[in-house]
Amino acid sequence: MSESGTPALYCLGGSFFIGPDPARDGVQCVALAKTRKRCRRWVEYGQTSFFETLQTVRGDVDFYNVTQDSRRWREQHCTVHDGSDAEDFCSPEWEPFDAEAAPESLFGSRPAPAW
Ligand SMILES: [Zn+2]
Repeated sequence: MSESGTPALYCLGGSFFIGPDPARDGVQCVALAKTRKRCRRWVEYGQTSFFETLQTVRGDVDFYNVTQDSRRWREQHCTVHDGSDAEDFCSPEWEPFDAEAAPESLFGSRPAPAW
């Protein structure tokens, strides 16, 4: 997760992770591009998933439920780098979700998405 980003909760193929806000920051591919810089493409190339609400001990959390392509999301690759043998610029930025330790900003209602 980038330092300045807004965290959001994701469900990727049944497991919960914290990552960058899909509407505001987007999830950027972690592969190393031919330019030797981080790939600038997004993991999601159009809204393919939707928000649902998870009830936790600290309150409700809206999460982005990724049911299609969840392996590619976990690997944090764009469609071009999916299954490619390109090196990664950095590790995927997902952090396992722990309701007790999650940032306060995850809880409560989320602002309307920008899309
Ligand atoms: Zn990529």
